[in-house]
Amino acid sequence: MAVKRILTIQDERLYQVSEAVQKFDSNLRNLVRDMFDSMAAEKGVGLAAVQIGVLKRVLVIDLIEKGFIKGAFVNPRLLEASEEMQDGEEGCLSVPGLSAELKRPRWVKIGYQDLSGNEKTVEGEMLLARAFLHEMDHLDGKVFVDKLEPKLHKELSGDIERIKRGLRVEHPVEPKYRKKKAS
Ligand SMILES: [Zn+2]
Repeated sequence: MAVKRILTIQDERLYQVSEAVQKFDSNLRNLVRDMFDSMAAEKGVGLAAVQIGVLKRVLVIDLIEKGFIKGAFVNPRLLEASEEMQDGEEGCLSVPGLSAELKRPRWVKIGYQDLSGNEKTVEGEMLLARAFLHEMDHLDGKVFVDKLEPKLHKELSGDIERIKRGLRVEHPVEPKYRKKKAS
């Protein structure tokens, strides 16, 4: 068991592109174990290797409790995505204290390799599709807050900047769309 510290958007590594995995060896299996341990310690549902400082194209997902799957996905790539979109709140262990609405395709088909290097595909919808797309963005050096609608990004920019400076966000800004929904 090895719980690693999860990098926040203060860390430049989160903006770098991760490298493809070439060797399917015990190092990869250990990395995946550390990723599952680190994700579970923070009660996350998805994690990319870069979030524990390893710039390899590996992600883990645990959405078992939500009725989906748990697994590790190596060198994942998007094969297909539905034109139909979904709305939903998204958060990230690297952006602690903040969540916001982000449109994503409702359904995706992903190609990936398992821990032995076998080529596989997996399909997912709703929360699982969102998790795959979110974690694959990490592998390309992208963080969800940078994909928000410009207006929403502006509303949250104070909090985002605080996190980038390594500060805590105790009382996150309530975006306007949430207030509208509540009233
Ligand atoms: Zn994330």
